[in-house]
Amino acid sequence: MHYFCKKNTVNIYIRLMNLSERDLIYNWHPYTQHKTATAFPAIVKAKGVYLWDENGKEYIDAIASWWVNPFGHSNTVIAKAIYKQLLTLEHVLFGGFTHKPAVLLAEKLMEILPSNQKKIFYSDNGSTAVEVAIKVAFQYFYNKGIKKSKIIAFEDAFHGDTFGAMAASGISFFTEAFQGSLLEVVRIPVPVSGKENESINALKNLVKTGEFASFIFEPLVQGAAGMVMYDAKYLDQMIAICKQNNVFTIADEVMTGFGKTGKTFATDYLQNKPDMMCLSKALTGGTIPMAITTFTQEIFHGFFDDDVNKALFHGHTFTANPTGCAAAIASISLLQTPKIQTNIQTINKQHLAFQEKIKHHPKVATTRVLGVIFALEIKVETQQSYYGSLRNKMYNFFIENGILLRPVGNIIYILPPYIITKKQLQKVYFTIEKALEIV
Ligand SMILES: *Cc1c(COP(=O)(O)O)cnc(C)c1O
Repeated sequence: MHYFCKKNTVNIYIRLMNLSERDLIYNWHPYTQHKTATAFPAIVKAKGVYLWDENGKEYIDAIASWWVNPFGHSNTVIAKAIYKQLLTLEHVLFGGFTHKPAVLLAEKLMEILPSNQKKIFYSDNGSTAVEVAIKVAFQYFYNKGIKKSKIIAFEDAFHGDTFGAMAASGISFFTEAFQGSLLEVVRIPVPVSGKENESINALKNLVKTGEFASFIFEPLVQGAAGMVMYDAKYLDQMIAICKQNNVFTIADEVMTGFGKTGKTFATDYLQNKPDMMCLSKALTGGTIPMAITTFTQEIFHGFFDDDVNKALFHGHTFTANPTGCAAAIASISLLQTPKIQTNIQTINKQHLAFQEKIKHHPKVATTRVLGVIFALEIKVETQQSYYGSLRNKMYNFFIENGILLRPVGNIIYILPPYIITKKQLQKVYFTIEKALEIV
């Protein structure tokens, strides 16, 4: 009795609080120091590019909710596909069974993937897609009796937060606490302007040792590093070098995939195609967590054997979840519509025009554009930390002004849903110009 009374008292207090306040009682947020963080806006509704919080305040989602949402929030086409699938077959295990959405999605992906990609393996998120690729590269050689236990990756890369993906990531404060418990990864410079030779020579020296199973990279754009961009020409050379030296190449397209760079995949800009690709984020149009790792036939063959021990012993409970597959099929169909393809080009043209306008601003150091991605680096005296004070000042300014942008250090970037209108995008640019006045 006493227990119930106590519980009811708590409930009354909880009912008096708003969602933002109640959130802080139990929820632990990602990448958040809760001691210094203030309460977060509670989003209660979203449609198209807009988010609304519990006080009715409107925000333009100018980063597609961490790059996952190309077709707008609460998209009816994807929602209907999900609903229909939920009423037909919500889930069945993929070990020992298959189902229509997985078959159709695989066939659909084959239409749009580089032609050397022949097999697809499902998992749950970008990090696990990367884990699968890394494990496959190691086991491919192990199955052949060859010991290769190291990975090559780019400096400042981001491949996810599970152990393998984290090891391959180069942003130090994400991984500092775990050094010593990670896979062996050697980092090389990104072939950005001025570092092309240094980068390519570093790769050449490493692959010669025969110790490396794979080279993993974010093709053309390093998202989490602040939309750092480099030329396809150099990545093409690097892939060729790896191929000549029996090192598998893994294109982590978790961020770049499904139209972000102006083509379906960043690897569509390359002559030499990677051996494996990691997909997630926009795969289901920002609705259901799902990921895919894709492979060449040669890699699949490295596991195809009378010996059961040579199989890939990896899986997740929700592998190839039919509802996720249905969302992905609807999402890829939307991507293929002329309307969305035109929108992607229109956003790109608008970004280029804004770049022309803003690049000579006294506070702007550099700007870059690829596809729907725009990035602007603010001139600073000293290197800014990822979550530094300048970054927080800008973030708060954007939120106050009803724009969701998450600057990285001194870099402001835009990666909007493809359905953003010219007027909505103009508002984002205008707010960035205003932000430059306060920094
Ligand atoms: C976001 C991201 C990941 C990790 O994906 P999660 O779904 O957050 O695990 C991996 N690689 C790249 C390039 C990413 O942008």
